[in-house]
Amino acid sequence: MDCIFCRIISGEIPSTAVYSDEKVFAFRDINPQAPVHVLVVPREHISSADEIDGENSNAVAAVFEAIPKIAAKEGLTNGYRVVNNCGEDGCQSVKHIHFHLLGGKKLSEKMD
Ligand code: AMP
Ligand code: ZN
Repeated sequence: MDCIFCRIISGEIPSTAVYSDEKVFAFRDINPQAPVHVLVVPREHISSADEIDGENSNAVAAVFEAIPKIAAKEGLTNGYRVVNNCGEDGCQSVKHIHFHLLGGKKLSEKMD
């Protein structure tokens, strides 16, 4: 499958890993938008949030179980933001579901 994040997960494309477990991989965004900007992805290829269903939601749950661990590891003791861009209007550029973990400063109140 020609998916850049699948290739990052497999190690075929290098990344700066910050967390890894059986179901989840997390690595630093190549174009960080905050002092901490980590992409948290399920190892299972799910195209977008719009494709979450009863069959694959365990992979998404695993992502959200990993997020507090990654946040602690990254020193985000004062909070953080988790963002998912979905589809065209959501400006999703990589079609492997991923959650942006942003923090390390007071983030903008604007969401759009
Ligand atoms: P999105 O726009 O929500 O689909 O986010 C895709 C994110 O992936 C962007 O923030 C990019 O900077 C990031 N990205 C793209 N290619 C890589 C890569 N090879 N390594 C790390 N981050 C990447
Ligand atoms: Zn993929």
